[in-house]
Amino acid sequence: MAAVQLSGIYKRYGETQVVHGVDLDIDDGEFVVLVGPSGCGKSTLMRMIAGLEEITGGELTIGGSRANTLAPQQRNVSMVFQSYALYPHLSVYDNIAFGPRIRKEPTERFKPRIEAAAKMLNLSGYLDRLPRALSGGQRQRVAMGRAVVREPALFLFDEPLSNLDAKLRVQMRTEIKALHQRLKNTVIYVTHDQIEAMTMADRIVVMNAGRIEQIGRPLELYDRPANLFVASFLGSPAMNFATGEVVAGDAGLALLVEDGRRIALPAGAAVATPAGARVTLGIRPEHIELAGEDANRAGDVEMEIEVIEPTGAETHLYGKIGGSTWCVTTRQRPTIGPGARVTLRLPAAHLHLFDTQSGTRCT
Ligand code: ADP
Repeated sequence: MAAVQLSGIYKRYGETQVVHGVDLDIDDGEFVVLVGPSGCGKSTLMRMIAGLEEITGGELTIGGSRANTLAPQQRNVSMVFQSYALYPHLSVYDNIAFGPRIRKEPTERFKPRIEAAAKMLNLSGYLDRLPRALSGGQRQRVAMGRAVVREPALFLFDEPLSNLDAKLRVQMRTEIKALHQRLKNTVIYVTHDQIEAMTMADRIVVMNAGRIEQIGRPLELYDRPANLFVASFLGSPAMNFATGEVVAGDAGLALLVEDGRRIALPAGAAVATPAGARVTLGIRPEHIELAGEDANRAGDVEMEIEVIEPTGAETHLYGKIGGSTWCVTTRQRPTIGPGARVTLRLPAAHLHLFDTQSGTRCT
């Protein structure tokens, strides 16, 4: 088991800096997910922790000891990659036994560990098979088995589910989480998939362009994103946004958006968003209410439906507000079609306000 600390970690390739001073404290036994768009530096950070990439600057400690210059095998970490990196000519058993054999461990010591790992990962019936006779999910489990038998202080997963089909991804996600709950090891998991991050993490680290945008528990980030980047990155369908100028009216402050509508701002928003400020308002699709008989109360917003998508459990309604496409999700099954007008109610408690220029949350 190991706590991991990164302080002021940066990485340069030649003249190009790709990680810009990352600070991150990971507790012993924590499951931390690094998430962000492709190219934001997640893998580079992970590879620096694994010892596969030199650290240009800053301090890395694993289990309380400085690890910056330790060789990968001295760091007591196991890494599972997107490509399972199995040896095609070796059986499942021999693939899993590869590491212990290289380290010249006696068979009687590692065999019980392999059997236990195989049982835990539902591979007991497949130990004699070659990788090509396994499904994608089973191969991924062999890669995990190989990581598990090392009994590392720290597990690193680099997009391990990217090569699997959607259904298997969901299943493996649960299996990895269950594995963590059983082993209680420290895990750092890299993905560009925000759903994977939300569902698996104890804490999520949202990265963008080589920097950390926000760190927090999944629902903390979802409910109170610190900036526009995090707000738009987490959530599917994504948060709806409308940008405009704050104007004072009879009924308090409102946001005057591109298409001339006024969207009422919550009463408490006055201090943080003075009249004249450019503000971006955000609201999640599931927080928008469809007004019924009592439509056109003060603050209601009309939207013309352009597209309707039933997913079974819920329906997504798309239309334009303030020049942007908005999505409203409802558990009702509306019988309307494209071209219909609906009245949206935006509950004040669910409105997020961001400074448009800096992107920072202002409430
Ligand atoms: P992610 O894992 O988030 O997709 P990476 O860590 O792979 O991102 O890459 C971060 C940035 O570093 C990218 O802009 C990428 O082009 C650059 N990069 C990665 N590896 C190298 C390398 N060996 N040489 C130069 N630039 C690199």
